[in-house]
Amino acid sequence: MKTILLNETPGDIERAGEILRGGGLVGVPTETVYGLAADALNGEAVARIFRAKGRPMDNPLIVHIADFSDIERFSLVREIPESARLLAERFWPGPLTMIMKKGEVIPDEVSAGLDTVAIRYPSHPAARAIIKAAKTPLAAPSANLSGSPSPTTAAHVMNDLSGRIEAVLDGGSCEVGLESTVITLAGEKPRVLRPGGVTVEQLREALGEVEVDDAVLHRLSEGERAASPGMKYKHYSPKANVILLRGSDEAFIEYTNAHSGDGVAALCCDEDIAALRTEAYSLGKRGDYSAQAHSLFELLRRLDESGRIRTVYSRLPGTDGVGLAVYNRLIRAAGFEVIDLEKK
Ligand code: AMP
Ligand code: MG
Repeated sequence: MKTILLNETPGDIERAGEILRGGGLVGVPTETVYGLAADALNGEAVARIFRAKGRPMDNPLIVHIADFSDIERFSLVREIPESARLLAERFWPGPLTMIMKKGEVIPDEVSAGLDTVAIRYPSHPAARAIIKAAKTPLAAPSANLSGSPSPTTAAHVMNDLSGRIEAVLDGGSCEVGLESTVITLAGEKPRVLRPGGVTVEQLREALGEVEVDDAVLHRLSEGERAASPGMKYKHYSPKANVILLRGSDEAFIEYTNAHSGDGVAALCCDEDIAALRTEAYSLGKRGDYSAQAHSLFELLRRLDESGRIRTVYSRLPGTDGVGLAVYNRLIRAAGFEVIDLEKK
């Protein structure tokens, strides 16, 4: 199959909508990362997403809508909790996914057999236009091969999926750069399953008490059930071995310099560059977690493209604000390998 590259023109948006209505797959730009979309109400089309990505079938997909009213219009959920209305008013359209009890129209392929469904209303104008053109909600995971870093440009999607999907629509580089925050509203208390651009602090401000799932910061132990199946996989990984260093700024620089050599690089902050004696890739300014989120996946891909880097020493961000989302992706990219420099 030849994958066509579409642009943000009305004609191409209409074309993307047609492909999706016909059961095809389209790489779609959103403000978080590029999504690999299919008609969410067509189980066969959705099954093709899993095959194209090599995604485990037990990992459910997010359903994307073009207006809050789509939830009722398509009967996507059994009921809309009050908390969902509150959050939608504050954070939609935007990088927040809400999990609710699913409606009967949701195919098993979307929910991976769970009795819940994840829903998001994206803010990227092209994403909204494509959903409208398709005239159906779109199921879309990130448009990468399963396990590799999520795509933040159309070129990343082409790299991973060219020949496996009908089209990619180029809507530029993704603003947030990390996947959406996922919160479940289907349990007793609201609980964050995956951190993202909408922060835990913001959610607490809106709802009061909000729990954070253990899997956000820790590796699940053998046999432990994941509330969000996606969190149990090694993920977002470049081919190079990523090792996280916990400790002071000075300790990070000292350790990295002591271990520098052929095929070794540092994933660092702007302020570290001058002192590092190794190939360095900066995520952004030290405290600017939004900038770091924006560049993380792009840099992980660049490390692989270099073809030389085998080991990457990376700083660990703080866990406040958007830092929690960067931390969550980095520990998965590293397969949870963290060296505590203060304990050495
Ligand atoms: P991705 O589409 O790659 O951003 O992955 C979607 C994320 O949302 C994965 O981590 C899924 O496990 C999670 N997710 C989707 N639907 C549900 C659901 N019904 N319950 C729990 N987690 C979900
Ligand atoms: Mg993904």
